[in-house]
Amino acid sequence: MCSNDVSYVVAQWASWMSGGVAVPLYRKHPLADLEYFIQDSRSSLVLAGQEYVELLSPVVRKLGVPLLPLPPAVYDGTAEEPREGEVPERDWRDRGAMIIYTSGTTGRPKGVLSTHDNVRAVVTGLVHKWAWTKDDVILHVLPLHHVHGVVNKLLCPLWVGATCVMLPEFSAQLVWEKFLSSETPQINVFMAVPTIYTKLMDYYDKHFTQPHVQDFVRAVCEEKIRLMVSGSAALPLPVLEKWKNITGHTLLERYGMTEIGMALSNPLTPAARLPGSVGTPLPGVEVRIVTENTQKEGCPYVLHVEGNEKDTRVTPGFKEKEGELLVRGPSVFREYWDKPEETKKAFTSDGWFKTGDTAMFKDGCYWIRGRTSVDIIKSGGYKVSALEVERLLLTHPSIKDVAVIGVPDVTWGQRVTAVVTLQEGHSLSHRELKEWARDVLAPYAVPSELLLVEEIPRNQMGKINKKDLVRQFYPQDQG
Ligand code: ATP
Ligand code: MG
Repeated sequence: MCSNDVSYVVAQWASWMSGGVAVPLYRKHPLADLEYFIQDSRSSLVLAGQEYVELLSPVVRKLGVPLLPLPPAVYDGTAEEPREGEVPERDWRDRGAMIIYTSGTTGRPKGVLSTHDNVRAVVTGLVHKWAWTKDDVILHVLPLHHVHGVVNKLLCPLWVGATCVMLPEFSAQLVWEKFLSSETPQINVFMAVPTIYTKLMDYYDKHFTQPHVQDFVRAVCEEKIRLMVSGSAALPLPVLEKWKNITGHTLLERYGMTEIGMALSNPLTPAARLPGSVGTPLPGVEVRIVTENTQKEGCPYVLHVEGNEKDTRVTPGFKEKEGELLVRGPSVFREYWDKPEETKKAFTSDGWFKTGDTAMFKDGCYWIRGRTSVDIIKSGGYKVSALEVERLLLTHPSIKDVAVIGVPDVTWGQRVTAVVTLQEGHSLSHRELKEWARDVLAPYAVPSELLLVEEIPRNQMGKINKKDLVRQFYPQDQG
């Protein structure tokens, strides 16, 4: 457990060099979760920055695991190639590199064991697709216990020898200062989750009200930044559009999971990105969509894509159907740690990983419709994508934030319910929402209920646990 600075890098490499598997912990997780991660991963040693020793002491004492305080790490700006004999001789390829715990959006976080080869496949795929070079400078603002923060934002720049500027934690003010400052190294790459982009725009609305300041912001971002990426949760279109107005950048949306690293990405060329889609497979990643029918008949998949976008093969007779997204390739994890049954269930008999996400192939790209278990709402025989409804509701002028959930319903199976936070000073009745939604949504997707709340609960990665939301509002429906 380290602060967001070079001490994390030291701890991770030290774990590897000494033959261990790194299990990144996040200081803001509740103690009970930290205890679970340390115990479940059967960690033999806890490395912690001095500032976290006190916090972790009761946990390690209880579990009987030794704790090694890390001295503050200082980076002097130089890098050396490892000297002969410094890197131990091992068969690195198949060795476990990291156990990263999933975000816990649909249940208890699962420990995902990835090998060095898995991590390498993700890193090299991203380095190629997003054209990383040693001259890049990324601004790092995400926690270091998740693939987005560890692999995409840290290991990619380290792989190419680029520069990673790390903030101790996200601050909208500091991010804008870094973007706009003329100091070197000049930030030219940024990656974040959608809620961070929303917070940056809230700050912009409050502080950058003068037209000449807005012109300056746009000019600097356009001129100095080459790439801005969004992922880990669906990017709402209004966020994409407003960000483009403010900075001139069309956010590059990509899709990934702890278990597979990154799998799908929009192209590097901004004009070729399709807003709302997550693009095509990264190099080396195979993706397919299966529906109940295609699985049952064992017929050719709806679709089979290999390698990169040039290799897209669509099976004749393919129709734009949605189904479960399956992924195969060297980036796919080895196992859920200590959970052989769950690992087995997560793969098809021919080795494809079942993501549990519903996707669709359209216009040459993949579109994520949401988690099959919580975002695909089955109402009166129709399947409604909660993400799709959320995207549309967010274009309503009074709606600031929204989560669409499926609530058990005797008549319809499930009913579509919108949990909404309003813009300051606005009001909205269910009747008004229904009238407005009639023009933009199919009748069965119009929310049959509206719940107004102060804030929608999200975890550190900006994700909503929808099972918890349903439980919170409808405890009586939980059987
Ligand atoms: P858990 O597996 O514990 O329930 P989780 O699935 O949220 O939690 P992660 O591995 O961090 O844990 O997140 C992966 C999931 O995030 C994907 O399965 C997908 O549902 C979602 N996701 C990632 N990127 C996108 C995206 N661009 N659009 C929509 N959903 C996305
Ligand atoms: Mg998951």
